[in-house]
Amino acid sequence: MRPFAYARPATLYEAVALLEAHGPDARVLAGGTDLIIRLRDGSVAPALVVDLKGIPELRVAIREAGGRVTISAGTVMTDIAADPLVRRHFPALAEAAAVVGSVQIRNRATLAGNVCNASPAADTAPALLVYDASVVAEGPGGSRRIRVDDFFVRSGVTTLARGELVSAIELPLPARRMGAVHVRRTRRRGHDLASVTLCCAVDDVGATRIAYGSVGPRPVLRIDDSGVLADPGATDAARDALLDGMFAAASPSLRSMRASPEYRLAMLRVLGKRALATAIERLGRGE
Ligand SMILES: Cc1cc2nc3c(=O)[nH]c(=O)nc-3n(C[C@H](O)[C@H](O)[C@H](O)COP(=O)(O)OP(=O)(O)OC[C@H]3O[C@@H](n4cnc5c(N)ncnc54)[C@H](O)[C@@H]3O)c2cc1C
Repeated sequence: MRPFAYARPATLYEAVALLEAHGPDARVLAGGTDLIIRLRDGSVAPALVVDLKGIPELRVAIREAGGRVTISAGTVMTDIAADPLVRRHFPALAEAAAVVGSVQIRNRATLAGNVCNASPAADTAPALLVYDASVVAEGPGGSRRIRVDDFFVRSGVTTLARGELVSAIELPLPARRMGAVHVRRTRRRGHDLASVTLCCAVDDVGATRIAYGSVGPRPVLRIDDSGVLADPGATDAARDALLDGMFAAASPSLRSMRASPEYRLAMLRVLGKRALATAIERLGRGE
């Protein structure tokens, strides 16, 4: 590990000033479950690590106000998986948070860190895409909101600008009744990164949102408003053709050690169909 300076700012203003001054030589530290590993293996070697844990505004908080739920940047997976607001309005996000790593990882890993790390396999990304979440970015020019779909560029790269950090994730309360589910495929039981991670939501007029990750350089969101996917009268052929179209953006890496591209694409279809069926059932049961 290359030696680095460590700063623990007490205000957002100070954190942003440090990030702006040091640009790519600085790295934010939240739970450290990704960053510490990368510091140790030398795949990142910043001159400065900026620890966000001393900033009061970023401490654990999940609040509902103004038609949305706001999750502060310090909130970890354990909090999200157990939170009544998240479980009621965004059950697929609670499910995704509950399968990240192990108990120890979930007690440290923040939702904001999962998003900012921008791994194509990030388990919370599909649910955030399906629920149309945004990140709140604080930077030298003030605050701005970036839809999660506009945030991911490719593995490890986001649209955060120099000096910016994520202070919160916002999820608009769903306007319609929805059934939703998060599913994933891993190589083995126990904790492992997903070979496919997917979220599907169906609303009460049959609009279907499917987001999937670990099958390309970034997670992908696709929306079908035709109503066909949720129509009990639709043929399997019609449904399969629509799903194939939604999965056409998948382009798994040939170099991954976790699963072959063929396996990932096959599993994407299997999980997609299962998730659609579960989302429709949950909608019917009012879950
Ligand atoms: C054993 C193990 C198992 C894991 N299993 C899973 C899994 O099953 N599914 C899964 O999705 N992930 C998994 N992970 C990855 C990891 O736990 C998550 O990505 C975690 O959510 C990252 O959050 P963190 O708070 O630890 O971020 P950190 O490690 O502190 O930061 C991650 C990256 O995001 C940046 N960052 C963090 N917070 C901010 C912010 N507020 N603003 C700007 N930039 C920020 C950091 O600079 C860094 O580049 C696993 C990791 C380990 C070690």
